[in-house]
Amino acid sequence: MTDLQPIPDDWTYAPAPESREIVTLQPRYGHFVGGEWLEPSETYETLAPRDEEPLAVVGQATEEDVDRAVGAARDAFANGWSTLPGSERAKYLFRIARILQERAREFAVLESLNGGKPIKESRDVDLPLAAAHFFYYAGWADKLEYAFPNRQPRAVGVAGQIIPWNFPLLMLSWKIAPALACGNTVVLKPAETTPLTALLFCDVLRQAELPPGVVNIVTGDGRTGAALVEHDGVDKIAFTGSTDVGKAIQRRLAGTGKKLTLELGGKAANVVFDDCALDQAVEGIVNGIYFNQGHVCCAGSRLFVQESIYEPLVEKLKQRLTTLRVGDPLDKNTDVGAINSRMQLEKIEELVASGREEGADIYQPPCRLPEKGYWFAPTVFTNVAQSYRIAQEEIFGPVLSVLTFRTPEEAVEKANNTPYGLSAGVWTEKGSRILWMAQRLRAGVVWANTFNRFDPTSPFGGYKESGFGREGGLHGLEPYLEFDA
Ligand code: NDP
Repeated sequence: MTDLQPIPDDWTYAPAPESREIVTLQPRYGHFVGGEWLEPSETYETLAPRDEEPLAVVGQATEEDVDRAVGAARDAFANGWSTLPGSERAKYLFRIARILQERAREFAVLESLNGGKPIKESRDVDLPLAAAHFFYYAGWADKLEYAFPNRQPRAVGVAGQIIPWNFPLLMLSWKIAPALACGNTVVLKPAETTPLTALLFCDVLRQAELPPGVVNIVTGDGRTGAALVEHDGVDKIAFTGSTDVGKAIQRRLAGTGKKLTLELGGKAANVVFDDCALDQAVEGIVNGIYFNQGHVCCAGSRLFVQESIYEPLVEKLKQRLTTLRVGDPLDKNTDVGAINSRMQLEKIEELVASGREEGADIYQPPCRLPEKGYWFAPTVFTNVAQSYRIAQEEIFGPVLSVLTFRTPEEAVEKANNTPYGLSAGVWTEKGSRILWMAQRLRAGVVWANTFNRFDPTSPFGGYKESGFGREGGLHGLEPYLEFDA
């Protein structure tokens, strides 16, 4: 007879840590230039935001390093890549996609370790989508003449690509896949705080036997990004990041003839009508703002609730927040991981303090935050006026501002009352109302009865201060092409 297991009196989750053994980190990384590792002249340490553990020493690329990377990209462009048949370029992209799938667990663990996002997100969202982007654009590589009939598309040349820290590998895929599909070569700079999956990606390029110099990766802070923007050998800049830096880049490139796409900040409205499926809407609201700790440019950070359901909705939302598990990004049960950096944590704290001072009511569920590392509890502000900073500025953290409306017209008016225009959400059972709202909301993406859904076939990008140009889908090819007719 076996011993009976005692009936648990506490149904909390047991720890379910993902092993990090699968990742082998080098103590030190250089820059990946011309298919080789270039020894960096300056370095810095990259950390794990969950406990500030130093993970590796990486290079801080100087102007000379950037110059070598651009030179390698130019050589690769001139010496074969740009004239390679599209069907041959596609083979490399397919290979990269397959290798990413094969090594998905390794990449997911490293992404969560270096960036702080929950492993279930990097495993179930970032990695599958990153591979899907390479698969999708592999399919276009030999069909560009059909995608743009009678326009004679050809590659632009060398693309300089600057990406942020919220979706490091996914943003790399959004940038590199369409660029290579169109026959360009690339110099990419990952964000200062999250360089490690981009550096591991260099090993994927080696496995895929991509010709040297087609993709070059230089690490470093904003100075490296600025050197890339200013380099004369770069034909196109693709930037994702803050609106301030985006504006500075646009000013810098004015009159140079370089092509530019900017994917910048957002302050998305998530609009909930009283005829919606309430529980489903609450899940969508939670996904909209607490996914990836709210480090999402299209996060649903302004919730507009129709007045008649305000009280039950806020009640349900607060209840749902008590069930979110905040903690170790590498634990498979974690819903909300670590804030990406000390700097970002301070920015969130400052904006949350301003919300309190301006008079909003704050709610945070009881949760014990780890002592080391960068952490912020999921937060809801109610009693928010449109003029408050928490309703105007991008917080880029797990902080939701709740506002109300009475009529659809008022919802549209308030939702569009922002300098941004990246995304929006609508919750209602009426299809006609969804279409009515989608026509009026000034946002690049409008989700209906869902939020934060991405697909490589669907273009993504902003209006107004959220930037210009589209990534994903057929539209995502255009910024990487010149047209001779
Ligand atoms: P940045 O815009 O500074 O960073 C984005 C990328 O640009 C990084 O690779 C960064 O390098 C690089 N960069 C910084 N300065 C320059 C420059 N002068 N020229 C060229 N490249 C540059 O965003 P932060 O990381 O500083 O975040 C600040 C705020 O921006 C966040 O709080 C959030 O509100 C918003 N943000 C929005 C994102 C979005 O997807 N829309 C993504 C990230 C942030 P480095 O990493 O070294 O700074």
